[in-house]
Amino acid sequence: MVELKDVSVTYSSGVDALHNVNLKINDGDFAFVVGASGAGKSTMIKLILKEINPTSGSIYVNGYNLNKLRRRRIPALRRTIGFVFQDFRLLAFSVQENVLLGREDTPEAVDSVLEKVGLLDKVNTLPHGRDTMMFRQFEKDGVQLSGGEQQKLAIARALFKNAPVVILDEPTAALDPVAEYEIYCRFNELVGGKTAVYISHRLSSCKFCDRIAVFSDCTIRELGTHDELVHKPGGIYAEMFAAQAQYYV
Ligand code: ADP
Repeated sequence: MVELKDVSVTYSSGVDALHNVNLKINDGDFAFVVGASGAGKSTMIKLILKEINPTSGSIYVNGYNLNKLRRRRIPALRRTIGFVFQDFRLLAFSVQENVLLGREDTPEAVDSVLEKVGLLDKVNTLPHGRDTMMFRQFEKDGVQLSGGEQQKLAIARALFKNAPVVILDEPTAALDPVAEYEIYCRFNELVGGKTAVYISHRLSSCKFCDRIAVFSDCTIRELGTHDELVHKPGGIYAEMFAAQAQYYV
């Protein structure tokens, strides 16, 4: 469970990034956070990861009250959260090592998550399959995957962590529309049972979520399902959806 109670954040520069935000995401729910640039979405993620502290209010993640969490417990908190950021970094290790990140598991388990993100067929064509090295810093025959393939690998890595909470910040930005659609269609299977917070400005993905939080002017202005929000007269979500729909239909 992830909950923000009356949370406000003012950066030291004096910028108000969040103002009295209340949001509760229940266990296993899939929440979508949407809003224009500068609306405070990334600030909320930084709070959940305890990279920053709120100016006022409380944040609860998996039973931790983050205001009371000691510094030495922060790694334990982060182990309960899998995340994919827009600027994810893959390492100059093998494909498998990029998924496992030091954890131990069977090659079959790695294949299974690669299959789920739609990357297994590609990996099977590489010279050494999942043991093929990424990039060319250390291996002259290392492979350079496309931006979209790297993004799928980053998603596989986040899901493999098997953390109860997963945060996806524009996870499909580098994917072409077909690959993006395939990932969306598999999202429930991919994220299955985890509490997921999905941040994107692409509203086509909202339909897959239990609840949508629309950020604007440092706070949540609308909260509801796609069907509730898309028909709200004068609503921010309805307006954003109408503006973007022309690109989807
Ligand atoms: P979003 O993710 O929705 O684009 P952010 O949470 O990044 O929005 O930013 C919200 C507001 O806080 C913006 O006005 C932004 O300029 C400001 N902001 C973000 N990070 C910092 C920071 N480290 N220091 C000062 N202001 C910041």
